[in-house]
Amino acid sequence: MHDNYQIDINHDVSSLDFGSVRDNIQGLEEVLNEFPQARGLLGDNFSIGVEKGGAAYACAAYWGDKLRFYSGMFKKAEKLNTSYNQDVASGWSPGGTTAADILRHEMGHLLARAISVKVAQGIQDRQKRLFAMSDDWEHNTQESRILTKAINNMSDRAGKVLNYLQEVQRVSRYAAKNRGEAFAECICDYSKNGENAQELSKEVWKLVKKELG
Ligand SMILES: [Zn+2]
Repeated sequence: MHDNYQIDINHDVSSLDFGSVRDNIQGLEEVLNEFPQARGLLGDNFSIGVEKGGAAYACAAYWGDKLRFYSGMFKKAEKLNTSYNQDVASGWSPGGTTAADILRHEMGHLLARAISVKVAQGIQDRQKRLFAMSDDWEHNTQESRILTKAINNMSDRAGKVLNYLQEVQRVSRYAAKNRGEAFAECICDYSKNGENAQELSKEVWKLVKKELG
């Protein structure tokens, strides 16, 4: 099975709730539509599959070309929706999002990956290039750079220095975990909520558009 972006959708997703998987892939495609460059920068082996367990909803793998749904969460729509809606109600996940938007967050990680690939293209030596990309992934380097720029732009507009943590927590409590998650939550927030998204999400989106749009 393939979608419009030549993403391999592994057969094992057929063991999951069909509607939840379909809605999430639609959300993913909406993000890809906005960032045509990103698809080209990610690998040819882009695939969506299943990971056993249920500690989280989904994940993006290290090399950035694999997205996985957790089977413990995605087998039953009711359980998934109840759990996710509780996360939104408690401020853990961005307001206005639903369980259909989980891959929008994961796509946030892949957009950071695509930026990292683009930046690393300037490095001639293959070994050094690969190291730079894995170092970015490990330390959320590109996400940090963009978030810092976003906060600076917002501070300039406000005429005062804004507090990073305060702005991040408006997006979600999970966003406060680290810069990688903050970036992914901003992408999820804006791609779902548009102009109703938090200020930080709008600013991050605008900066990513400049780099990958
Ligand atoms: Zn994440």
